[in-house]
This record gives sequence, structure tokens and C-alpha cells, in this order.
Amino acid sequence: MIYNEYGKTGKKVSAIGFGGMRFRKEDYEKSLYEAAKVAVRANELGVNYFDTAPFYCDDKSEAVMGEAFKYMKNPFYVSTKSGISSEKDSSAVRKRIDGSLKRLGIEKINFFHMWCILNLEQYRQVMAPGGPYEGALKAKEEGLIEHIVFSTHCNGDEIETIVNEGYFEGITLGYNATNFAFRQKGIKAAHKMGLGVVTMNPLGGGIIPQNPNFYSFIKENEQDTLVQAALKFNASHKEITVTLAGMGSIEEVEENVKAGENIGEMTEEKLIRFSTKINSSLDALCTGCQYCLGCPKDIEIPKFMDAYNMYILSNKNEEISNRLKWHWGMDTKKAAECISCGICEKKCTQHLPIIERLRQVANIE
Ligand code: SF4
Ligand code: SF4
Repeated sequence: MIYNEYGKTGKKVSAIGFGGMRFRKEDYEKSLYEAAKVAVRANELGVNYFDTAPFYCDDKSEAVMGEAFKYMKNPFYVSTKSGISSEKDSSAVRKRIDGSLKRLGIEKINFFHMWCILNLEQYRQVMAPGGPYEGALKAKEEGLIEHIVFSTHCNGDEIETIVNEGYFEGITLGYNATNFAFRQKGIKAAHKMGLGVVTMNPLGGGIIPQNPNFYSFIKENEQDTLVQAALKFNASHKEITVTLAGMGSIEEVEENVKAGENIGEMTEEKLIRFSTKINSSLDALCTGCQYCLGCPKDIEIPKFMDAYNMYILSNKNEEISNRLKWHWGMDTKKAAECISCGICEKKCTQHLPIIERLRQVANIE
């Protein structure tokens, strides 16, 4: 396992981190230990960064992690969180920290997240006098937490503003082979300011392993599985400290941990090559913006175009009908009612050939 310096904290953390949001229900319903074995195995194989949160896995994740810590033989670091939607002020954060410490069975949380900051307005709420950050700072002074960090879905400019204000030692954000072109600015700004950078959602919510043909371009090593390639894609960035992978079974742990052994290096040249691939494909994807609504034949265009996205990613017609049937509860027939009036195409923000796509959908057997 490769280890990286987490920002300026002096801590060396494993390049692949354990995401505690995928413990299996059947395991933790049987016993905490049954689920905890997965995290213990990760620690045996060199993982030392363990991320959890209240509410994950029916609110069991912290307790499962606490059970796992009892059996870990190697050193480990713990990350957990409090969110502005449930902990709105400093005393609520303190209560949350006390609860987390108890469930985790530890005396100190190493990385405590101000969780899921969506925009600058929320950031200001977190930082307001008497607000959540103040609660975290007091807990830090008392030795209950070590480093205050944040997780976010903000865009690059907003992240730059937050990190430049200098209150946080690390950041956790979604990053993967699908969205990297839009997320570069954020990770670069955080790295430049000396923050630890943890990435989550490296598999793009499953879309990467579900579309092996489309994402084969990220596979640099034949022996790697696509999951390993996706983890290496993140981990090979010099700006990224930890790539979090959600793990629910020993098999997943063993597959994921291998990605941390031989990571390689992400170069600007590779990024440009990948960006070209992703950008041209993303241009053809419907974004779900709904500007095309108002079809005179009442065709639900965004739903049909969403299903067509699955075709773009897989090159299989059956993915369109599967998506319509199982996700939207529709069939392909309605697409045949299009009268080619062109109203929708004039409004489409992506300039998509909606009429042609509907024709293709209507022709699926
Ligand atoms: S072109 Fe077809 S889908 Fe688009 S608005 Fe006209 S009838 Fe509806
Ligand atoms: S306007 Fe274009 S991109 Fe937006 S939902 Fe409609 S088809 Fe999709």
C-alpha cells in the first residue's frame, strides 16, 4: 500500500481509504462483528484511513466501525462528520461529537468533517458565530478531535474561496473519471493551499463499472479490473491524498486494496487525452435540464433522453428499454408519436438531435 502525507497534519494515510457507507445490511443485522470483519481485513492489508458518518447504513456505520477498531492490529485514523442540516449550532456539534466518540469507542476523532457544504451560503452558516465550526473548534481545543476538515459539492471557484480563507486542514469531494474535467479546479486549489484531499465516489455511482466499454480508456494495465482502474485514476493524481472506496465484502476489500499497490502517475498529457474523450461524449449526453418540456404530443422528452444516455454509455439498445422500463416505468412506444415539429430541438441546451433519437427509440423491438 502506498501512503501519502495528509496536507500539513504530519499524518501518513493510505492512498486507498475505507468508505464506511457500504456495509451490508444482512451483515450488520446479524451482528456488528459480522459487518466489522470487512474493515478489519482492510486494516490487515494496509488501509489506515477509515471514513464513516452518522446515518450511513441505517445509522449503523459508526457502531460497526467501532466494533472493527477493537480488532485492528495496525494503526488507523478515523474520519466522521456532522452536517449543517442536523447540527445547526455549536452545541449540537458538540453533542454529535460526544455521540460519535461513544459509538466509535475512541477518545479522539482524527479528521472531523463539516459535512456536505453545498454552496457559499451554507459555508457562511457553518462559520457563523455560535455555529458548527465554533463547536468543532472547542472540541479540538479539548482534544476530542484533531483536524477540522470539510466535505463539499461546491464548484471549483467556491472551493477556492473556502480553502483560501484557511479554516480547514483537508477536503473531501466527489471525483472520478466522469466528472474530473469539472472538478479539477477544486482539487488543485485545495492542494495548492496545502490541504489533504480525499476523493469519494471514484466509481461515479456505479456508472463506470456498469459501462466497461465506454470507460475502457482509463484502463492502463490489462490485469486491472475496471474498479481498480477507476481507483487508480483518482489515486494517481499528485493532488489526491486518499481515494475512498466503499467496501461491503472481503472480496471487494481485496480487489480495492490492490489498486493502492501500484498506482502510477497522472500526467497533464493523460488528463488532456482523457478530457477529450470525456468532453466529446458528455456533450452528447442529456443533462436532464428539462428546457425541452412542452411537447405538443406530451412526450416526456427528458426521460427518453435520459434512457438514451444509457445507450451512449453502453452502445446497447437494450439499455434504453431497460432504463425506460425499470427506472421510469415507461415503454418505448410513446416515442413513435413524435411529429418532428422541432420545437424541442430549438430549446435543447445541449443541441441534441432529439427527433432522430426518438426515432431510434421507437424502432427498438
Ligand atoms: S419534435 Fe417531437 S418530441 Fe419534439 S416537441 Fe415536436 S413532437 Fe415533441
Ligand atoms: S433540453 Fe436537451 S439536455 Fe435538457 S432535458 Fe431536454 S433533451 Fe435533455
